[in-house]
Formats: sequence, C-alpha cells, structure tokens
Amino acid sequence: MSYCDICKEKHTAIQIEGIGHFCKSCYNDMMAEVFDVNVDIEDKLEVTIEDIDQKDHLFVVSYVIMPVGIKWLAREKDGYKIELYSSLDTELKVGLWQLIEKIQRTLSYKSLENHKGEFGLKSVGTSIVTVDHGVYKLKIDDKVIDIEEFSDMLAAYEGWMFEYQFRETSELTITEDMVLKPTSIKPDAVWKRFLKNKSYYLSEPGLGLHEVLDLFQENCDDLRFMLNLGFKQEAKQLGYRMKIELDLLKDLDLIKTLKEKIDNIIWLIP
Ligand SMILES: [Zn+2]
Repeated sequence: MSYCDICKEKHTAIQIEGIGHFCKSCYNDMMAEVFDVNVDIEDKLEVTIEDIDQKDHLFVVSYVIMPVGIKWLAREKDGYKIELYSSLDTELKVGLWQLIEKIQRTLSYKSLENHKGEFGLKSVGTSIVTVDHGVYKLKIDDKVIDIEEFSDMLAAYEGWMFEYQFRETSELTITEDMVLKPTSIKPDAVWKRFLKNKSYYLSEPGLGLHEVLDLFQENCDDLRFMLNLGFKQEAKQLGYRMKIELDLLKDLDLIKTLKEKIDNIIWLIP
C-alpha cells in the first residue's frame, strides 16, 4: 500500500504515471485548481484508480487528436474500457481530468452484486454490448457475461418491468445512488431544470466546486440526450442560453469549467 504524495497520510486512490499518487481528497483539491496545475501528457500513460471495493484498476490512457476533437480512451486489460470526447479547444490536462473523473464515476458503482462468488444483477445498472467471435455478450462492470448467464440472472426479477436505453459508451454511466428515471427533454423542461439548479446554487453559497459541478451535470446530460435524440438545434440554443446565464454568476472558475463542459457537448453542431 502506498501513501498520498501530498498529505503523506492517507492511502493512494489514484495514481497517475509521471504525475503522482494521491488520496481522494488531495486529488479533489488538486482538481479544483486544475487550471493552475502544469502537467505534461504523454500520448500513452498509465493511471491506477481504486474501485468502490478498494481494488486497484490499471488503465492505459491514450488520446487521439482528430479533426473533430480529441478522443480519449482508458483501457484496462480484460476489464473496463472507458471513452470520452473533448473539444480541440480543451487543454489536454483538462481532458485528462475529465476522463479520470469519468473513470472514478464508473468505478464508484457496480451493477453486479456478489453473493459468495455468485453474481447477480442489481436493480439498476449499465452494460456494454460486445461481440466475441460472432457471439454477442454483455460486459457488466469488468466482467463479460454470456446471454445464458444473463438470462439466469433475470430469474431474480421475474414479473418486474425492465427498461432499456442504448447510449454511446462515451456517455456517463450509472453510478452510486442513481436510478434511471423517465425525463422530458423538451426544451422548456430542460430549461426549467437548469434554472432550478441555478437557484439552488445561489441559495447555497457554501457548495464546493465539485458539488456544484455535480449539480449542473444534470443539465449537461440533458443537452447530450437532446443531441443524441436528434434535437440538435434545440440543444445548441439551450447551450448558448445556459452559457449566457452562467456569465452572470460570480465564481469565475465555475463559469469557465461549466462553459467548457457545455461547449464539449454542443461544439460539433453546425
Ligand atoms: Zn492526500
């Protein structure tokens, strides 16, 4: 077990090759100052992050700069594969932090539960459809599950309703304490949710940057859903309106980070 480079007290939860070992709280403090941290980012680097059971996962992180943006990939051997896109205007280090944030979110929840070595489905979860020699399988957490195995797991939910939604793997996954809930992506409804979060933010001056970003994540997700379901111009317009509202706030770090998040979603729309 290794200790955090910053506080030298808590155990390492995140390890970034060439950058350091950090406990969760020091990493978060560092994140809050992300724009001031200087890092060189190789085109391949190793990042180790612990999951909710404190098991370490070693990812090889790579990125490809494409004409339309930067594609990030974190790949664990025989395990998780996590993707993220950032715009060409986003600094590489910010793209890397966003990817790490996504890995942390992914590792903070498991869709399978382990009953003495037998895996079962939790009532909420995410899986990725994969193909192995022409046979389709599901990857749930870091395990590949045959359709037969999945069918056996369904026994626990006989008679229940099962909802599904296919999304690109670059999108957010279900994490701890989340449920799927039907949500309207009508522009009015999306705008109302944004204003609601904004007034909550204004009424709670003690919130940290991380908590505020978590709060507004809902609105970024809304924009992404609109985009994926074909409401592109509506998403673009709402994104602009959100950015204008954000400019009226006082916290410059927050404004910059959030506007960048919104741009990362809408910048591709013509
Ligand atoms: Zn620390």
